[in-house]
Amino acid sequence: MGFACNNNCQFCVVGDEKRRTHDMVTADVKASIDAAREGGVTTLVFTGGEPTIRKDLVELVTHAGGLGFQDIILISNGRMLSYPDYLRDLVRAGLTTVSMSLPSHHPKLYEHLTRSPGGWRHLMKAFDNVAEHPLTVCTITCITKPAVADLPDTARFLVKQQERFHRYFGELIFVHPAGNALANWRDIVPRMSTASPLVHAALDIAEEADIILNVEAIPLCHMQGYESHIIELAMAPEWEMREPGITGLDQNQARRERNKHKEPSCRSCRYDAVCEGPWAGYVGLFGFEEFHPISGEPVTDPATLLAVARPGGA
Ligand code: SF4
Repeated sequence: MGFACNNNCQFCVVGDEKRRTHDMVTADVKASIDAAREGGVTTLVFTGGEPTIRKDLVELVTHAGGLGFQDIILISNGRMLSYPDYLRDLVRAGLTTVSMSLPSHHPKLYEHLTRSPGGWRHLMKAFDNVAEHPLTVCTITCITKPAVADLPDTARFLVKQQERFHRYFGELIFVHPAGNALANWRDIVPRMSTASPLVHAALDIAEEADIILNVEAIPLCHMQGYESHIIELAMAPEWEMREPGITGLDQNQARRERNKHKEPSCRSCRYDAVCEGPWAGYVGLFGFEEFHPISGEPVTDPATLLAVARPGGA
């Protein structure tokens, strides 16, 4: 719906775009929602920027709720959800799922990464509030250099927090070197080979606690034995993004063609047909030396990988 935000996170992929782009007006968002529903879409995601700073968000969720979407999802930094009455209005309007950014479980590091003094207190209040409703709760942890070593402890924190939520799943997303993340890359972007063992340790902790924790933007050659956690393999075959000036963009295709990168060496990898490769921005910073083809029978159906048993798993 636009890129305006009340934070200015160091890892934000939007960066200066928020100052150049006007957010969509209410009538245009409603028209997009109508078109999606008429086209048979059943899941709707409100994202930005930060959707909760729009004055019309409750009106928009009410509009969508009246059209019969099965799932209405809000992606948020959580700050406005610290106000219980506001969250209650969104839930009454039809909100089903809240997805909140949690780049670190250390309050000081969280506020350093999000550049939001007081933001941790807001997020924890938002956690208290969402626990009061029958919502699905998701946390999104952007994998950044300052917080990467803490990922196992972050997983332990999430295991504890999720006990009070109605339903829960978490996502670990390797930082996309674009926007602020690219401008701050020396401080923000970790090496993939440093991050991946820590991601595996976090996944082991989640598995042990029987909670769902999945991973985005780490290629298969760094996820051996953890393939079933790769979000890209399980994404809906079609999903469309609508933002200011853009309609009808196939998000999967755009991500692969514009934002991901593979090398000719990938053609000899058994995962070539199903792997998107790392962020192109990452390769621009660090090259492709950390990504090595995996030998073996070529994999063409992601479903076979989603069923792979993990080391120590059932
Ligand atoms: S070598 Fe290339 S195709 Fe194979 S898993 Fe790594 S990035 Fe993907």
